Amino acid sequence: RAKSAGGNRFEVADAEADARAITRHGLTTALPTALERGEFFIEYQPLVHLGDGSVRGAEALVRWLHPQHGVLGPDRFIPLAEHTGLIVPLGRWVLEQSVRQARDWRERYAGTPSAPLRINVNLSPCQLTHPGLVQDTVEILQAEGVAPDALCLEVTESALIGADDDLLKPLRRLAEMGVDIALDDFGTGYSNLANLRRLPVSILKLDRSFTQSMQQFPADPVDLKIVEGIVSLAHSLDLAVTVEGVETGAQAEQLRILGCDTAQGWYYARPGPPERLHELALADATP
Ligand code: C2E
Ligand code: MG
Ligand code: MG
Ligand code: MG
Repeated sequence: RAKSAGGNRFEVADAEADARAITRHGLTTALPTALERGEFFIEYQPLVHLGDGSVRGAEALVRWLHPQHGVLGPDRFIPLAEHTGLIVPLGRWVLEQSVRQARDWRERYAGTPSAPLRINVNLSPCQLTHPGLVQDTVEILQAEGVAPDALCLEVTESALIGADDDLLKPLRRLAEMGVDIALDDFGTGYSNLANLRRLPVSILKLDRSFTQSMQQFPADPVDLKIVEGIVSLAHSLDLAVTVEGVETGAQAEQLRILGCDTAQGWYYARPGPPERLHELALADATP
């Protein structure tokens, strides 16, 4: 009996693995037409200044409204898009939409504290090695009349570990133009801290795992020391520190005391449609 039950479980597990593989295959083949049919959309999550609570910008996060599976998060399809190369046109589309959105916000909030609202866009490692990156970015900014310093490109720490000069060249050119480069998910990789000097980054985005360890009060003293050390190193290198995944007021307060500059997380707002940011930024502007 036990054996047959075990066998049964095995079959179930196998069926699940099959279903996953079929879905993965189905999603992969549906990706190119999804872009043509306009099934992707972008949610924006505000970036909040920890000192005064004002909305300073937003991160663009792509989603796929799949006709059968409903809304899929980027973790479900970005790896597939990277594998097939669709990430290049998809990434360009995200950049274009986001810069256009930033232009709209900047016009809307002229004269309010949120006027210099900035936009953060994630870059996949495949986009870094694509020769059109710099030119596409310049063209999009020019077409929308948005200054380069309104844009921040987020690259994960792991994408830049061991990066040679060829890989860094396009990022350097963008940084020279005034585009900010942020090191995303910082602290999850094993990068040599001294290596930071070599990278054309101006912002560290501290990974959510650090924020999570600020959950208890008082937080783990070792974690506090680590974050304190990262923040002071970052500031001494002229890098700003953004924290991800802030879910509670206690975390926000702790991270503010530790000297972090900007925060992002559910405590302030979940990623949402662009109109949601209108409310937040305008609420912020009313005295
Ligand atoms: P990321 O760039 O580190 O983005 C932050 C992720 O944390 C987002 O997940 C966001 O929804 C989530 N998050 C924000 N605040 C909180 C919080 O308080 N608690 C928790 N638990 N989570 C929070 P999402 O939207 O699922 O995106 C996942 C990843 O997909 C992103 O991580 C980014 O690496 C990638 N991604 C998203 N959009 C794009 C894109 O347009 N291009 C590329 N190449 N990658 C993208
Ligand atoms: Mg990011
Ligand atoms: Mg991140
Ligand atoms: Mg992350």
